[in-house]
Amino acid sequence: MNAARGFRAMIVGPPGCGKGFVAQMMVKTYGAVHISTGDMLRDHIRYRTWLGKRVERFTTRGKLVPDNLLTRIVTDAIGKAGNRNLILDGFPRNINQARALDEMMTLDFVLDLFLPMQAIIARLRTRLVHPASGRVYNDHGDMAPRVPGRDDITGERLVRRADDTSHSVVMARQRDYVQETYPVIQHYSQKNILHTILARQHESMVPLVKRYLAKRWPKRIHQRFRPQRRIELVCNQGPRSKSSTQQYRWSVS
Ligand code: AMP
Repeated sequence: MNAARGFRAMIVGPPGCGKGFVAQMMVKTYGAVHISTGDMLRDHIRYRTWLGKRVERFTTRGKLVPDNLLTRIVTDAIGKAGNRNLILDGFPRNINQARALDEMMTLDFVLDLFLPMQAIIARLRTRLVHPASGRVYNDHGDMAPRVPGRDDITGERLVRRADDTSHSVVMARQRDYVQETYPVIQHYSQKNILHTILARQHESMVPLVKRYLAKRWPKRIHQRFRPQRRIELVCNQGPRSKSSTQQYRWSVS
């Protein structure tokens, strides 16, 4: 491992297993830059960029977005993260993307969050999100917001993700996970960088992740690579139009 840079990690797990929660914890604890392809795509859709208009028909049906579109935004985001601790969330999702990532950089470790399918489906039925930050809640249990339906930090309204509300879309995403993402898990298992964690409760994952990181990436994790509070990702994909040149800020704090 290279002492001159931060860790480069990836978090993998079926939709709804708590990847976003663990990633947010790593942002807060280790100052990691969180590169979530799902959040980036939702932002593109929200801001009606050229890319957003192209990917919407895939995301609303729970289908994977074509690799070439994803690889471009991930390359851009990794470049912007520089030498900071970095956590990839939602990418790579299939073996082609994993090979493309191998060309871009070497991952130091992969956190694989495991939860049985039935528990996942039950959790997605009650998941709530704060669209602006990507913070994730559940309408009951250990992840419930302090005020029902409101984000704990801003007080803004929480929403259900469009792709969580249809049973067929939820099932399509789970199927894709088994067919497309299992080979990615195997790919990293063969490289001996895979660490599997049981994702039964969100909070119970925190000490497990911290203990693993202390062992895998000792001492260097905290201070040196604290990111700027915000990293700017510019929506400059494809032909320019008024909306496609719109810039937005992507919070990493
Ligand atoms: P997520 O928030 O990670 O569940 O992603 C939401 C949706 O964005 C997925 O259902 C896909 O349509 C799309 N998406 C996110 N990441 C990827 C990826 N690496 N490859 C293809 N599609 C993706």
